[in-house]
Amino acid sequence: MIETTGLAVPRPGAAPQRWTFDRRDPLPGDVVVRVTHCGLCATDLHALRGTDPAVFPLVAGHEMTGVVDTVGSEVTDLVPGERGAVGNIVGSCGRCPACRAGRENGCAEYPTLTYGGPDPHLGGANRGGFSSHIVVDRRFTYALPDGLDPAAAAPLLCAGVTTFAPLRRFGAGPGVTVGIIGIGGLGHLAVKYARALGARVVAFTTNAAKREAALDLGADEVVLTRDPDAMAAAFRTVDLLLDTTGVALDLDPYLRTLVVDGTYVLAGIPPEPLRVDPLSLVVGEKRIAGTGSGGVPVTREMLDFSAAHGIVADVEVVGPDRFTEALDRLARGDVRFRFVVDVTGL
Ligand SMILES: [Zn+2]
Ligand SMILES: [Zn+2]
Repeated sequence: MIETTGLAVPRPGAAPQRWTFDRRDPLPGDVVVRVTHCGLCATDLHALRGTDPAVFPLVAGHEMTGVVDTVGSEVTDLVPGERGAVGNIVGSCGRCPACRAGRENGCAEYPTLTYGGPDPHLGGANRGGFSSHIVVDRRFTYALPDGLDPAAAAPLLCAGVTTFAPLRRFGAGPGVTVGIIGIGGLGHLAVKYARALGARVVAFTTNAAKREAALDLGADEVVLTRDPDAMAAAFRTVDLLLDTTGVALDLDPYLRTLVVDGTYVLAGIPPEPLRVDPLSLVVGEKRIAGTGSGGVPVTREMLDFSAAHGIVADVEVVGPDRFTEALDRLARGDVRFRFVVDVTGL
């Protein structure tokens, strides 16, 4: 077993604390990554502040960068000392049509998530990236391309692929107008990717204070969504909307901004059902789609694209001793735009 130190919430409602636990010894196809940085995603906050006792003690974190420590006997294309990265999927069946198509995030047997789900090797709940080491199937361990700062690149492994994958899948590029709803952890990366892909980018935000930030990130235009005149002026101007808010929006004002055949893509996960007037879809023959994480091929493409275009997250790096503060500030939306925990001090 590999003795690992993590930042764990021991039981529902408790504060995070250092905790030592065992990882499995590497199987022939495994890679052991010594984690240096792990991004803090809204999903982590919800999990760590959740109430299901079955998943505690809970070590969250699913956006990791680090250094390959050791590899299993069958791993030949990653070597100790090389930089590595791990996202929010660490296993899948490998046999279903989705897996065979490189869409492992859609595995018919449900992918093995990095933490909080059943650990197929050791039993119990598996443990995430706010920890000193992680043992991962080679298929889900990525080489971190040269030039990407390991702290600022960590959020690419969840927020990056969750925004890059749908922009690619739905054709963001030259001649296409992309609307990004919400300029936060996901949205700020979405603006950068859409811009780098060559699209015209419109940022939709409730927050007038984010106007300048959105323009700095690469938006061509900012629409303040609480201004009915601004929303009306955007009527039928957007080809593709990517909603990163995680809030159950009233979709109708947004769907009115889509052109005929336009697509609204849900990237965040609202806590309640969506509300939509059927006529908002029928008139203009529009689509609602979902997206979440990405399979192995698009994750690799995202990392290469990020390195080629110099795209990383805008991050505030904190040490393990500021983990609780980071959770509190994320809960208040007080971060620009992503916390990353430097776990080398664990
Ligand atoms: Zn995430
Ligand atoms: Zn599968």
